[in-house]
Amino acid sequence: MPAASFALPGKRGRLVFSSSEDPIRVTPVLTRASSLVSMLVSSVSGVAESLFATLFPSDCRLCGFPLVNISRLPVCRPCLSDVRSITDGVCSVCGERVFSPYALSTGETRCGFCRRLEPPFVKAVAYGSYDDGLRELIHLLKYQQVRPAAVVLGRMLAEAVRRLEPGWNEHSVLVVPVPLHARKLRQRGFNQSELIAHHALKLGAGSGRLVLHSRVLERRRETQSQIGLTRHQRRENLRGSFAVTRPEVIAGREILLVDDGFTTGTTVSECARVLRRADASKVFVATVARRLKIEAKGLDLAQTFAEDEPTLAATG
Ligand SMILES: [Zn+2]
Ligand SMILES: [Zn+2]
Repeated sequence: MPAASFALPGKRGRLVFSSSEDPIRVTPVLTRASSLVSMLVSSVSGVAESLFATLFPSDCRLCGFPLVNISRLPVCRPCLSDVRSITDGVCSVCGERVFSPYALSTGETRCGFCRRLEPPFVKAVAYGSYDDGLRELIHLLKYQQVRPAAVVLGRMLAEAVRRLEPGWNEHSVLVVPVPLHARKLRQRGFNQSELIAHHALKLGAGSGRLVLHSRVLERRRETQSQIGLTRHQRRENLRGSFAVTRPEVIAGREILLVDDGFTTGTTVSECARVLRRADASKVFVATVARRLKIEAKGLDLAQTFAEDEPTLAATG
């Protein structure tokens, strides 16, 4: 069967597809051989790494290119450095992308939704946009059990948390990961938000002011998929799902709620509401990724994605 050869846009390496088989990579053989040669002459550790790559060949789980370094995370450096942080052009309260900035007298930018309604959290920040590499990194951790991904995601979370620090009044802030339902926790073996928060703290997130407390909030009810629901329906869908189990720990405290992703914000808003009802003084939100509005040519998608419309692929 004749095979077609083409380069994937934005990806390194070349793939050959045939109609009956999985994609066959052709250049890596050359790449591995040439990188082996250059590494052999460079250093003793280079020899060990190349030998490892030759004996235990592994490909980057994001772009498919062969890895040349020994790493517990099967993702190449270019893929990791492609994941960029977002800081500009977002709402100062919820972190949503703002296309026509509405500056308050304080110089803050707010999205339409946060101008109309006060969310139950003081401020939500995210490291990056919930697409491409970042989404795949999160999926590696959540669905493929690649736990070393939590270290990289923890570093990103730590960077996002830095933007919240000026708002903290208390010396010590309680970190509460968004909980999983017990059945899902058993199935997955870990709560990804807790794992990411754990690594962020290990990397010094919050300048030593953060204390992780994973057992103060629980998910009592498993919820149906949020896909295709309106904001109101999503809120109804989650109502009663979360409960504070240790109100004495929460009362009067500033809380940093942590989750892997922020898609519609319904999950973190519901958790924040429950925490505030248990007398938390303030709730801040930090996530690794955030789904952002897209701007398209000739079409105001900011309008299409208006806050009260159903959101596609909404999971949290
Ligand atoms: Zn890669
Ligand atoms: Zn906003």
